[in-house]
Amino acid sequence: MKNYNIQFDKNGRLRHFLTIEGLKRQLLVDILDTAESFSGVTAQSIKKVPLLRGKTVVNLFFEPSTRTRTTFELAAKRLSADVLNINVTASATTKGETLLDTLHNLQAMHCDMFVVRHDRGGAAHFIAQHAAPHISVINAGDGRHAHPTQAMLDMFTIRRHKKEFAKLNVAIVGDILHSRVARSQIHALTTLGVNEVRVIGPETLIPCEVETLGVHVYHDLREGLRDVDVIIMLRLQHERMKGALLPSEHEYFCLYGLTEEKLAYAKPDVIVMHPGPINRGVEIDSSVADGPRSVILEQVTHGIAVRMAIMSMVLSGSSSIPLSIRPPGMAEVPKTQEQLSGKANSEGEII
Ligand code: ASP
Ligand code: ASP
Repeated sequence: MKNYNIQFDKNGRLRHFLTIEGLKRQLLVDILDTAESFSGVTAQSIKKVPLLRGKTVVNLFFEPSTRTRTTFELAAKRLSADVLNINVTASATTKGETLLDTLHNLQAMHCDMFVVRHDRGGAAHFIAQHAAPHISVINAGDGRHAHPTQAMLDMFTIRRHKKEFAKLNVAIVGDILHSRVARSQIHALTTLGVNEVRVIGPETLIPCEVETLGVHVYHDLREGLRDVDVIIMLRLQHERMKGALLPSEHEYFCLYGLTEEKLAYAKPDVIVMHPGPINRGVEIDSSVADGPRSVILEQVTHGIAVRMAIMSMVLSGSSSIPLSIRPPGMAEVPKTQEQLSGKANSEGEII
């Protein structure tokens, strides 16, 4: 799971998108910039570009999702790819072998990309490790491990509203323990260099040693929201909770639910985000979710452009990752005869 280099091919091109952990800041900025150019496409009346014409994208979902699957489907279609949606019910006994059989069958149908959602952490990495060399894998959420495209669309939404990351204080509130979204957001926010990331929640829902990821922990919501620029609310992940971690939803709402009164502790121009699906009256009051500070539906819209950017970057193979933004340990690989013989530099210019 910790093998980040699997995300790049031997020429340093982004081949899979599995986790944000270990990616360089410039690559994240490139994704945001590319998404910015695609957001124009999604707004125009003819919403298609031919970048992935002839490619087949498979949405391979072992866990239910509407928003993520739909926006991946729209993104692939707007890039002119063919799309297959496969919902596989993940039983507790779904093991590596079953996953591999599914993979081999789809490979036999000459698919080009798998967008994988699975309830087990590491599933997308596993598929990427075993996929044929021409296949790209995108992680659309694996267990409580990572949801990197969600984090990137969140970064895109933040940049749209706040321009610079450097001065921002960002609070992530709620069930951090079970949240793959929080983990990916923390990696993205710290890599993009925000001033401070705070995680706020009851002790039972904050992973121990989370501070090692570079965040500050608060258990009091009002205290934690003081002077923040961005608030990210999370859903209580009941499906992942083992045993009683909470007294009751009512008490949780009293302590950690975002209301107008608590929102007033943040900066006046704070934005309120949520990856969805929202539970009104549990982690967020309807008046805040639908209020003027909420950008929750914008996040969904931006998900399309951001997923178009990531899909085109991994599948077109067009972007060679410059040395400056490669993960550690990745060597520069010559691509042309001239580069091999030292007659050209890494950009292919004859020297
Ligand atoms: N967890 C789901 C997702 O990521 C929520 C939904 O589908 O509405 O999309
Ligand atoms: N949609 C997000 C996910 O799939 C968040 C959630 O389900 O609460 O992780």
